[in-house]
Amino acid sequence: MSLLLPLDERDGVIWVNGRLTAWRDAKVHVLSHSLHYGNAVFEGERCYGGKVFKLREHTQRLLDSAKLVAMQIPYSLEEVMAATDLVVKENNLDLGYIRTIAYRGAEAIGVSAKGTKVHLAVAAFEWPAYYGGPSIALQTSRWKRPSPESAPTAAKCAGLYVICTMARDEAVAAGYDDAFMLDYRGQVSEATGANLFFVMPDGALHTPAADCFLNGITRLSVIDLARAQGLTVIERAIWPEEVRQAREVFVTGTAVEVTAVGKIDAQEYAVGPVTKALQAAYAKLVRA
Ligand code: PMP
Repeated sequence: MSLLLPLDERDGVIWVNGRLTAWRDAKVHVLSHSLHYGNAVFEGERCYGGKVFKLREHTQRLLDSAKLVAMQIPYSLEEVMAATDLVVKENNLDLGYIRTIAYRGAEAIGVSAKGTKVHLAVAAFEWPAYYGGPSIALQTSRWKRPSPESAPTAAKCAGLYVICTMARDEAVAAGYDDAFMLDYRGQVSEATGANLFFVMPDGALHTPAADCFLNGITRLSVIDLARAQGLTVIERAIWPEEVRQAREVFVTGTAVEVTAVGKIDAQEYAVGPVTKALQAAYAKLVRA
């Protein structure tokens, strides 16, 4: 299947509300509630050798995200996991990306979601390199991650990505690969679809405490791998002024895996030994 085709013009099957549906027929109505109000919740997963990495964790996060936005997904954890495995198998994917989304239908159009049905779809497709190149450049964004008092920041909720899309596209327009996002307090938070790590002069791995952004499943895996390699991992509030002293910087995420950051604004960073060791350990883990 050509990776250049738009996502709605490909062949294969998509699991929609319990049924395998022909790829091109997996459509939503324009009056769907989630399209207007951004209240869909979703997951991004990868499979390696046809096996979905951390499938249970991703599926649990989908159910948790739904709960945070008061959405009841009408399928159990086991049912969603089985649907995901089925979609990977039916589309003959070895290395693939899975996008699962729960969204509200077109039964009502007012702001209240009362009366809407919750739909679930699982799609899987090839999506090789998120950035391309050995390291990426980040630009500090004018957009800030909101407070958990203003938004369901622990949920992978569609509406929150309005900020990420604007931030990333502005950074890309300025010649960077992604945005370096601060939060509502001015502290370092994340990139637009990946968590941040810094090897600081003390030799420890520092990462922002995930108190107003997604606590990535890759982030948690990399923290475990780093500790297994004998590194000290410190989760704390990090201020942008500190970042200049970092020896190495990298981002983690399902799509980006472990990617080195070579530049933040004008400051350059080497792709160092800690990043390389964690890249190797993560590549081994996902194929285990
Ligand atoms: N932050 C944001 C905003 C994301 O979209 C993602 C990707 N899901 C991450 C962090 C990393 O999360 P994970 O490692 O679970 O993919």
